[in-house]
Amino acid sequence: MSMTFADLSLAEPVLLALAEEGYVNPTPIQARSIPMLLEGRDLLGMAQTGTGKTASFALPLLHRLAADPRPAPRGGARVLVLAPTRELVSQIADGFESFGRHLPFSVTTIFGGVSQLHQVNALRDGVDIIVAAPGRLLDLIEQGLCDLSQLEALVLDEADQMLDMGFARPIERIVATLPKDRHTVLFSATMPKSIAALVESLLRDPARVEIAPPSTTVDRIEQSVMFLDAANKKEALLAQLKAPEIGQAVVFTLQKNIANEVCAFLTGAGITAEALHGNRSQGQRERALNAFRDGSVQVLVATDIAARGIDVDTVTHVFNHDLPSLPESYVHRIGRTGRAGRSGIAITLCDAEQRAWLHDVEREIGRSLTVHTDHPWHSEAARNSTMRAPVLGGGPVKKIKPQVKRERKIWTEEEKEAARAAARKTA
Ligand code: AMP
Repeated sequence: MSMTFADLSLAEPVLLALAEEGYVNPTPIQARSIPMLLEGRDLLGMAQTGTGKTASFALPLLHRLAADPRPAPRGGARVLVLAPTRELVSQIADGFESFGRHLPFSVTTIFGGVSQLHQVNALRDGVDIIVAAPGRLLDLIEQGLCDLSQLEALVLDEADQMLDMGFARPIERIVATLPKDRHTVLFSATMPKSIAALVESLLRDPARVEIAPPSTTVDRIEQSVMFLDAANKKEALLAQLKAPEIGQAVVFTLQKNIANEVCAFLTGAGITAEALHGNRSQGQRERALNAFRDGSVQVLVATDIAARGIDVDTVTHVFNHDLPSLPESYVHRIGRTGRAGRSGIAITLCDAEQRAWLHDVEREIGRSLTVHTDHPWHSEAARNSTMRAPVLGGGPVKKIKPQVKRERKIWTEEEKEAARAAARKTA
């Protein structure tokens, strides 16, 4: 018989919430992480999104808070979870609230892009659990509005993504304000050297739990590629989206303006679509995600960073309208489908210019994608292209022209008069 949550000796109120959520069997990462964390060990978890990693730290931390009830420290918190994006922060906080619904704990989210007033008010009396993006949290700490010197547990979720987004310094500065004697958990999908260094500096003799080898794609997802000219991408995408087997889909584009264009094109063709990217306000992003979640929108067109927090179990397809410039983003993108044990389909549209990026992706995941040739837009030229990968950020770096310093001319009175006379003549 397979393991159940009851076998993990979690507190009764946590088990009750899990039963209400319909969770019966822990996922592999949960089965392996929860006992370690209940023992109080530090943990390094290597797992991708969709494996159930949120519950693997939220459940044991709720259990530990419940086992040792005490008031939250004023202006601070007992547990801090750091995550890269607002969407992921909200999603993790929802997890704590949902699993902790029969416990008296308070959960607060902290991220930028919204007024800090509400966050500061919530912090004043202390909260049990803070889920935060590093930038805004550091801001509040530096303003003296948040004091984490009494913290008991720290979780870094999607640590590789946080470092990619430039949060290494903020994390370092936040950690410097925490007590050394604390419980620390770090999750990362990949294990570059920078993460190994972070693990070394933050975790004490951690238990290691690895679910899928780093940087390989989830096996349940069927992955294929269509080679075509860039000008045909929107038509090809539309034709795919009209196929009857498509439930909900996430379409990834390289840039925000392309996301807007694709979204407008699909909407014009009668598909319900919303764009999700960093130029949209927090309210717009939340509305788009909610509409997608409740099924009133079929397609979400997103850029990489904005899409990190999309956790919708009903996503059947991921389309890459563009290849990502960073191969590891491909793994994160396709992880938006095939969630909660379901299977998923990921189709990548590749033109001649992005061919080199496809090579990088295939190297990263250690396999080649299945090629669809049976469609009206197939281009052998794109398939065999040897073009160099596009340079992002406005093309090649411009050479700065050396500045020639001009001597300032000193005019004599005669010269001034001659110049005035010439000007009068021409006037
Ligand atoms: P995560 O990797 O934490 O983003 O979780 C991926 C998805 O799996 C989420 O939608 C969870 O609600 C769902 N999930 C996580 N753990 C379980 C479980 N033990 N049983 C059923 N669904 C789960």
